[in-house]
Amino acid sequence: MIITIDGPAGSGKSTVARCLAERLGLRFLDTGAMYRAIALAVIRTGKSLNDAATIAQVAQLAQIRFQGNQLLLNECDVTSEIRAPEVSSGASLVAAIPEVRYQLVRLQQEIGREGSMVTEGRDQGTVVFPDAEHKYFLTASLDARANRRLDELSRKGIPGSFEEVREQIRLRDERDEQRELAPMKPASDAVLVDTSHLPVEDVVQLLMRQIQT
Ligand code: C5P
Repeated sequence: MIITIDGPAGSGKSTVARCLAERLGLRFLDTGAMYRAIALAVIRTGKSLNDAATIAQVAQLAQIRFQGNQLLLNECDVTSEIRAPEVSSGASLVAAIPEVRYQLVRLQQEIGREGSMVTEGRDQGTVVFPDAEHKYFLTASLDARANRRLDELSRKGIPGSFEEVREQIRLRDERDEQRELAPMKPASDAVLVDTSHLPVEDVVQLLMRQIQT
């Protein structure tokens, strides 16, 4: 069984997907982490995040794999590093490049063939797993999402102002929604859930009830 959870940054999809996977005893796939790893690989080379040809080359050489909750880039643990704000912005730039998407979509589908899982991202229900049994698209107001991201950053000791974080998310949404290939949007058969005023536990319960009926 494949369950897809798509949605914008800060909609709660990662937390919900992880929780759901744990309770249902399924694997969890964080596809955003894969785009982040490619962005990190490019940043490390010192090359521009706007140079599509170079990014495609870097992506081709990058080896990405999950080991439990860790993400390995060329066999090195980059789980924390990929959460830095510059990597978040970089991820939405590399995610617009067709070669990067083809490579990561293939990898995600390979992982999907190994068995049931909950997978989250922007295009899981639309492009990567169009035949998934259950599809969700989580949304929330921009302010609610910026507040969540700010809390998350402050827990990690990363400084940032509300306005700054809100603007970064707004720009990222814009890029993710407007790119030509696999833009972020709900699948036509996805259930939409607005999480602006819902605690994580309520969202998880809602999805669990639907999946188990
Ligand atoms: O979900 P997360 O914030 O980690 O994703 C980082 C970026 O990776 C997104 O802003 C988006 O540009 C890209 N992404 C994507 N397709 C996915 C997952 C993430 O384009 N399935």
